[in-house]
Amino acid sequence: GAQICECHECFTGPDCAVPIPDCAADADSGDPQLFEDYWRRHPEMGTVVTPGWYRMGYQIRDGQSMNFLNNALEAAIQELHALTGNAVTEGRYIVLGTGSMQLINAAVHSLALQQPNVSNVVALAPYYGAYELQTKIFSTANYRWAGEPERSSSTSLNGGPVIELIASPNNPTATIQEVPSNTSGVVVYDHAYYWPHLTAITKAVDNDIMLFTLSKITGHAGTRIGWAIVKDLDLSVKMMNYVFLNTLGVSHDSQLRATQLLHSVVKSYTRPTMSPEKGIFHYGHEVLLARWARLEAIFSKSSRFSVQHIETQHCSFFGKKSAPSPGYAWVYCERDEDVDCSEVMLRANITGRAGMFFGSSNRYVRLTLLRRQTNFENLAAHLSVLVSQG
Ligand code: PMP
Repeated sequence: GAQICECHECFTGPDCAVPIPDCAADADSGDPQLFEDYWRRHPEMGTVVTPGWYRMGYQIRDGQSMNFLNNALEAAIQELHALTGNAVTEGRYIVLGTGSMQLINAAVHSLALQQPNVSNVVALAPYYGAYELQTKIFSTANYRWAGEPERSSSTSLNGGPVIELIASPNNPTATIQEVPSNTSGVVVYDHAYYWPHLTAITKAVDNDIMLFTLSKITGHAGTRIGWAIVKDLDLSVKMMNYVFLNTLGVSHDSQLRATQLLHSVVKSYTRPTMSPEKGIFHYGHEVLLARWARLEAIFSKSSRFSVQHIETQHCSFFGKKSAPSPGYAWVYCERDEDVDCSEVMLRANITGRAGMFFGSSNRYVRLTLLRRQTNFENLAAHLSVLVSQG
């Protein structure tokens, strides 16, 4: 059949085994390629064969409602949340999206429709940059980007309703975030990173609007599957309508693949014949713990750079204390003259994402830890050289 072969970054030659000398370390994108190795080692868990006639149509059944969510996928999603204990799904509506990316704006758009006045969309910096970029480009007569929330005042921005976007754990800092209880606006909780390999699970989150994504669980970002867990029926219908009008549903091929992947994850932990150490959360946790420890060791020798501090907490899923295992390093340049930290990295042949993308200062740069091992080794090598230069 058709075979598409491309070497991974920094490798060349007929077998892609020849390293390219002095290859730059690309630590920009959050593509979660670290899981590729896991799926290569467990082909029986991830492989899907799709017959030509499988779910060719838009709808699953004739006359079906707007929600294009496959029942088996919905069950797998619920089982996975139950297994990890990270979120409440009972009595909630699940809205499927083409990645959680689509659902961020689906939520903003739908929440704004529920308000009589123009909504102000806010996020506390540093925030995931797509919140701002999406809101600005999709902004309608019903909502606009309004920057950071006004925590101190009791009145909302311009007196209008407020929609707050908040990632917990945060991208880029991995901080667990909650809005103060006296916040007047509605909050969209983006829990893309609230999984045991990335953070300690301390409770089953039970917020009104919660976003999750396949991308950071199994690494299948290209499959483009995300879901929202929503308490309010009217909001869930509005969000489904948004997905319907925007992409006319969500790829059935992708749903089938996601079902297989999530089922396998659940089975790997629930079948008594399987050892939990073979599960993807154990794998991801081990890899990311090691990477963070390595990174901290490198930066501990430096007075020029610092990285964020992350608390060690008890994780209910692993049943023990969980040292930090974040997806990103949020690096700060300490020297007065280093006003652009990503520029400093670039001169050391490291590409990161500038602080400005996160509504923050360019004294910060985000480096991804989610990519292949060879990518991380290259990053660590370049960082060690940079730090050793004083
Ligand atoms: N939210 C956050 C906080 C993210 O970091 C990402 C991916 N980088 C997304 C949402 C979008 O993920 P996806 O569309 O792949 O579900």
